[in-house]
Amino acid sequence: MTNFNDFGLAEPILRALTEENYSTPTPIQAQTIPFALQGRDIVGIAQTGTGKTASFALPILNHIVNMRMRPAQKSARVLVLSPTRELSGQIADSFRAYGRHIRPLAVELAIGGVPINRQARGMARGVEVLVATPGRLLDLVNQRSVSLQQVEILVLDEADRMLDMGFIRDIRKVVAMLPKKRQTLFFSATMPGEIAKLAGEMLNDPASVSVTPESTTVERIAQSVILTDRASKPGLLVDVLKTETIDRVLVFTRTKHGADKVVKQLEKSGFPAAAIHGNKSQNQRERVLGQFRDGSLRILIATDIAARGIDVEGISHVVNYDLPNIPESYVHRIGRTARAGRDGVAISFCDYEENAFLRDIERTIRIKIPATDKRTGGVRQAAEPAGHHQANGRHRGRGGNGQNRGHQGNGHRNGQGHGQGHGHGGQGRQEQPQRGKAHHNGGAAKGGHQNGGQHHGHRQPAAAAGTGQGKDIGGMKFMQRGPSRPRSHAPR
Ligand code: AMP
Repeated sequence: MTNFNDFGLAEPILRALTEENYSTPTPIQAQTIPFALQGRDIVGIAQTGTGKTASFALPILNHIVNMRMRPAQKSARVLVLSPTRELSGQIADSFRAYGRHIRPLAVELAIGGVPINRQARGMARGVEVLVATPGRLLDLVNQRSVSLQQVEILVLDEADRMLDMGFIRDIRKVVAMLPKKRQTLFFSATMPGEIAKLAGEMLNDPASVSVTPESTTVERIAQSVILTDRASKPGLLVDVLKTETIDRVLVFTRTKHGADKVVKQLEKSGFPAAAIHGNKSQNQRERVLGQFRDGSLRILIATDIAARGIDVEGISHVVNYDLPNIPESYVHRIGRTARAGRDGVAISFCDYEENAFLRDIERTIRIKIPATDKRTGGVRQAAEPAGHHQANGRHRGRGGNGQNRGHQGNGHRNGQGHGQGHGHGGQGRQEQPQRGKAHHNGGAAKGGHQNGGQHHGHRQPAAAAGTGQGKDIGGMKFMQRGPSRPRSHAPR
């Protein structure tokens, strides 16, 4: 399938996709959507960033359009279980975005850290889609605010992360309350034995789909960070463009507006550049990509979303003009270079506000990225890029896992976790598994940059990429989860 129209999705969904500027299904979407539309159970191996949310959300919305019925009180027709608040929020947003022309469409979120009563009220009249973290969902069920007896479709997202976070027992409890006759869509980035077993229990004659992570080897990417001030970034980019031998460079900004600004700044300095992002039309995007591919344009500025699916060979450099707040995005970004056996360079600008992101990234990839300090002063208290204490939780206003990492980074791994972990009903449940994980990663909390709780917890040198530990970009995420899986520490 090369076009969303080929799936036979309902018109309101196609309209939303056009508005989202989605033209081509990603590989996981092309594989999953036809099976899911047939009502098949699915077991999918796919990581976040592959377009997996739409791969289940679109067929589910299609089912809702075609089989209109009023949800029963306190019930959900579709239940999506996700491990973190952050991911749950993103999934709910995706349902709302793709379903914006479907009315009525009630999408409710049941996650820890927010008042449970509001969620109970949100569920009173029943909803089409409930996106939940397992702990909070069980609390809502236990207080009889949610009934699971009307669930027609269950999605389990990031199953392996659920395992990491100690949620597997909760999931089994939830599944036991669901109708036997249902469709189940099961996604995981990896398929360790325990997850395969869970899938076996939950699924009925599933269709298997998988997308392999990008096979770029991190060994061939020379990563570096330049510590800088926000205001110095434009000049710094120009310096990099002047000093590096660049074939093609992909510059990432966090926002569309930022991308346009960088283009203007570069053009002023005599560097022709173009941006692709969600506000550009498909034609513009294709024209710019064509120029980038044929070499007539050497500098392309992109946001993460727009860069998805860019498969251009010969990108010699990736510049993170802004650091992403999601470590996996960093991995995806730098994976755009060093393709097809070539070497690549990834240079990241990190200003004071982004120190926390850098620490998260380094923890995820388990590499301390060599840094050069080009700050002009004034904010030196933010100094150390990796591992050192930085008592500023402000940048970590993310839910779930992000907060967990926040505890580690701040060395408070037990503080908030314990505080919220006990006696708070739903909120506590959400925190407990995190506490388990933080506990396990205790070494990382203190040393800041050890191996995420691996037994040999020594600091990874900058060259760790070549040790074989960080072999494959996609695999880096797996490794983070693999050996450090806190099974024995899981609180339940
Ligand atoms: P996910 O893996 O579901 O987190 O998706 C990653 C990102 O890709 C999200 O920001 C989506 O909005 C975007 N996305 C998903 N499918 C497509 C598509 N077919 N075309 C363009 N962007 C997409």
